Amino acid sequence: MKARAFSYLRARTIEEALAAHSQAGDDARFIAGGQSLVPTLALRLQAPKLLIDITHLAELRGVRREGEFLRIGALTRHREVMDQPLIAEFAPLLRAAAPFVAHPAIRNRGTLGGSIALSDPAAEFPAMVLALDAEIEIAGLSGTRRVKASDFFVDLFETALAPGELVTAIHVPLFKTSQRIAFDELARRRGDYALVGCGMIASYDGPKIETIRIGFFAVGPVPTRARHAEATLNSHALDAARIAAAQAALEEDLAPPDSEDVPPAMRLHLARVLLGRLLGRIGEGA
Ligand code: FAD
Repeated sequence: MKARAFSYLRARTIEEALAAHSQAGDDARFIAGGQSLVPTLALRLQAPKLLIDITHLAELRGVRREGEFLRIGALTRHREVMDQPLIAEFAPLLRAAAPFVAHPAIRNRGTLGGSIALSDPAAEFPAMVLALDAEIEIAGLSGTRRVKASDFFVDLFETALAPGELVTAIHVPLFKTSQRIAFDELARRRGDYALVGCGMIASYDGPKIETIRIGFFAVGPVPTRARHAEATLNSHALDAARIAAAQAALEEDLAPPDSEDVPPAMRLHLARVLLGRLLGRIGEGA
């Protein structure tokens, strides 16, 4: 199948991109890496009349420190998340997740901003951005704003983005040497979307976890913080009993969807297995 005919605009400024989208309304789509959008066009699941190419917008590029945050431009490709030295140093949880996103060809084109804007519940980066307590920078016709990740992912493929708004950057609180991270996922084959995935960041106070934030994906309509599990771990040293308590608490955190493929009880079981493994790594100093 081929995509329906569409017009194409290569935007030179954010203002031009926003104005073109506003004029075309529901008939327009921004295109970044195209790794999610193009297949849906080819399958005619979407048929916008106008594609607005945002890949030449300089404001959406680059990675730099800004105060207590690392600003990662929306056009940063998955491949760059793996290679960029500032991301490795100050946002290592994103670095750890990146090799699990799809395959090299897709990582060479797909963008971090595209992944966050699309907000696929099975995608790695949205859940990591949530665990990191990051902020999403958004540009619209009325100006720029920042939204906390906890307020950004609203429902299945639904975010705090208003129609025609652009994700311009992700702001990640700088990683500190007192923190530890761990990431992994369970998939049928490497590169497939995960059956269950999880990433975490823990701040340590001596032998005890001071605070931990845990983000799951592929467990429901939106990326999910495991807040009950976190509460069992905060202010405690990790031992087998504490890990078992956190695994048990997942019952209250996750409500996996009913699916013939993976029944909810099995997905919850896999989430517990994954949590146990990752907490083991955190305890060993990951
Ligand atoms: P595009 O495809 O260009 O756009 C996607 C949507 O986001 C569109 O609606 C577009 O309008 C909108 N958009 C894009 N950028 C912005 C922006 N800055 N502001 C506002 N809206 C924007 N992803 C995973 O996370 N994990 C996987 O395992 C995985 N496996 C994949 C396997 C295959 C075979 C394929 C084809 C894709 C896979 N993906 C996976 C998706 C891939 O990571 C996409 O690249 C990513 O989700 C979207 O990024 P993009 O830049 O390609 O966005």
